[in-house]
This record gives sequence, C-alpha cells and structure tokens, in this order.
Amino acid sequence: MPYFGCHLSPTGGYQAMVRTAGSIDADTFQFFTRNPRGSRAKKPDDQDMALALAQMKAQSFGPLVAHAPYTMNLCTKEPQNRDFAAQVLREDLQLVAMLPGNFYNFHPGSHVGQGLQTGISQIAAALCSGLENDLPVTILLETMAGKGSEIGGSFQELRMILDAVASSRVGVCLDTCHVWDGGYDIRDNLEGVLEEFDRVIGLDRLKALHINDSKNPLGARKDRHACLGEGFIGLDALSRIVSHPALAHLPMVLETPNELPGYAKEIALLRSFIKS
Ligand code: FE
Ligand code: FE
Ligand code: ZN
Repeated sequence: MPYFGCHLSPTGGYQAMVRTAGSIDADTFQFFTRNPRGSRAKKPDDQDMALALAQMKAQSFGPLVAHAPYTMNLCTKEPQNRDFAAQVLREDLQLVAMLPGNFYNFHPGSHVGQGLQTGISQIAAALCSGLENDLPVTILLETMAGKGSEIGGSFQELRMILDAVASSRVGVCLDTCHVWDGGYDIRDNLEGVLEEFDRVIGLDRLKALHINDSKNPLGARKDRHACLGEGFIGLDALSRIVSHPALAHLPMVLETPNELPGYAKEIALLRSFIKS
C-alpha cells in the first residue's frame, strides 16, 4: 500500500502539518523548505520537529518530501547565483537532516544556454558538496517536463546526474504530469515507461511520486498541473499508476490545484483505487 498525501503549507510548523495531514486521511505530505522565492529559511524549531516526528511514527506515516524552492537553480550561469543556490541546498539539507529518514526533492535546474554537459557537471558539483557532511537525508531529483533548458526532462538526463554524483543517497521522484509532458506515455503505455525507467535509472532509485493530472497533451513540455480526472492523463491511468505493484511502497503526493477539501477528496479517491 502506498502512502498518500498532498502539498501542505509549512506556516504553522511541523506538528500542525502532521495534524492537517491526519485530518484529510493522509499518511505523508510535502512542504517547501522555505518560501518558493528562495528567501532565507526561518530558524528551524527542533522541538516542533522532534514532536512531529514522534506523531508521524505513532500514526505510521511514510516518508515526507521536503521540496526545495523552485528558484534554486544549481546550474544557473552567474557564479555568484550558483554559489547562492548551492548554499540554499546545503542549508536545506541541514534542516531535513533534523527529520532523519525523509526526502529532500529538488528540480535539477535549467542550464540557461550553457549546454547540458556543463549544467550536469554544475548540478553534480553542488550535490557532491551537499553530500559531504554525510547527513541522514536522501536527495531526490525530480523528473521534469523539459520546458526551456530544464534538465531532467528525460530519464537519460537524470541517469547522467546520478552517474556524475555516484552516491546511493541520491534517488528520483517521478512527477506524473512532468513525465507525461516530457513525452512518456503513462496513460497508454505504463508498463513500457516503467520498463524504460528501470532500464535507464533503476526502479530501486525511485523513492517518491507526485500524482498530478496534466492540462496538456503528451509531450507538450508545458508543466501545468490539473486536478485528477480533469486533464489529459485521466483517472483510469492514474488509478493504474497508484495501484501498480512496483510502486506499492512509495509515498505519493498530490500537487494538484486544490485547497484542503479538494485534497481530501482526491486522497479518498486514490485510496479507493487501491481497495478495489
Ligand atoms: Fe516539484
Ligand atoms: Fe512535482
Ligand atoms: Zn510541475
């Protein structure tokens, strides 16, 4: 049985997120490590984090997904902006290390015309420096839609990053909207896509999923999330994905355009797919 949850606001702290998750029958959740604009994180409240961890354990939650700010681009062109992004990564890893065993997910980055190879070596350099401290955190590369110069729009590109970093503490988070927009037909060829993922990346590296429908057709490279059943992927395909035996143990997080009541409905829907 997968763990189901959604993206939550971290404003009230960690125990508040655990409570909110519980109130919508979620047993995992995702949150931004800081304001999406990438401003300084406020000082972590270690007592709140420790109590939240204990509550998660008592309620048999699965691993959480801490999400980096969208603006963190480890392969941006200006060296000082790149240093700032690497600094954000290091600080965020320290924060997530206070929630041992959970995941830190980020968008690999956009090479902004520097080229794929340069972008990948810059991402790898930042990751290697972040991994030096040996923190109890697994870093996840998110599969991307491949918009503009975004890296991670293909499984091969993620494989190149994994090879360049060569650490078992780096995994992958598969976003259903992103892979669909990137041209992977998870609607009509789920088995083929999972086989390709396994061949190129390895299913053992897959640690979490983002469950979203897409506002655009296959291969559109747009990245616009839709509510479940209101996009081009559709409920039948999403039901096959969340009930697939190869994915059964993973946290699955909604990032659909919803408020809490909408998330509650979608989590109930996802759970109904598993029971049937
Ligand atoms: Fe993301
Ligand atoms: Fe996502
Ligand atoms: Zn997205």
